[in-house]
Amino acid sequence: MQQIQEDLAHLSHIPWLSNQRTNVYVLRLDNIHPLISGNKWYKLRYYLKEAKEQHKKVVTFGGAYSNHILATAAACKLYGLECAGIIRGEAPARYSETLTDAASHGMELHFISREAYAAKQVPETLTGKQYYVIPEGGYGHLGMLGAATIPFPAGFFDAVCCATGTGTMMAGLICASGNKTKVTGFSVLKNHNSLTQEITALLPENVQKNFSVNDSFHFGGYARYNAELIRFMNQLYTATGIPTDFVYTGKLFYGVKALLATGFGECRNLLTVHSGGLQGNRSLPKGTLIF
Ligand SMILES: *Cc1c(COP(=O)(O)O)cnc(C)c1O
Repeated sequence: MQQIQEDLAHLSHIPWLSNQRTNVYVLRLDNIHPLISGNKWYKLRYYLKEAKEQHKKVVTFGGAYSNHILATAAACKLYGLECAGIIRGEAPARYSETLTDAASHGMELHFISREAYAAKQVPETLTGKQYYVIPEGGYGHLGMLGAATIPFPAGFFDAVCCATGTGTMMAGLICASGNKTKVTGFSVLKNHNSLTQEITALLPENVQKNFSVNDSFHFGGYARYNAELIRFMNQLYTATGIPTDFVYTGKLFYGVKALLATGFGECRNLLTVHSGGLQGNRSLPKGTLIF
């Protein structure tokens, strides 16, 4: 399998999103690997290192289209680790492309009921073995520390914007940002009221908590979308050549553009983090997106 190439995470200016007051830049984490895409590699790196040192089998959780599941499967293959994915819901008659790929990279798949999944139960069939659990979405201290290695010139930006699921990447970005940089996370979940608390719980005490969560651009909730979002993603691609995914980064860029139109406050240089996730677009009907 192809190696991860962190040096491909280019930073570039996006005139189409910029205006007279604010220059918008994008950090293309989506370029570092086709499967271990975007933020997932950064969040996984220290967990995988620890699992490797402890000679354990990696176990993690996710849904049928999960970027985290596929990234974990591919990264474990690359690092010679055994791994299992605990998947929410009954085994489908036909696997999603994400699950097919994860299995083809050697991930053992276990399907558990939604109730067992909510309790994050590791199935009986796995217990007894020496395994290393990576929390769903990589949420946790090591995930945050890994995300803090996402490379960008911190002092240059007044604002950093990212899409937010568990908040792990955002916590890492807050750690990696200078004191004068405000980090804004665009939540992709509806009514995720504990998000601010969950991010704060990951932050070391001495880190300046200069961040906010924006709850206005989830488009109805996780993996929900409408014609307007799709139109915007196609428009962004035509104008800039930047492909986005409909679960996370499409909503991020949509939100940033909308906020800039009404004023983002005093902000000279704004960084958007393209956190990857493009494989998830395969769950859309063919032809929805032009890329
Ligand atoms: C998983 C994912 C996120 C969310 O990251 P969190 O650390 O869980 O907030 C954002 N963008 C993309 C593309 C992702 O795949």
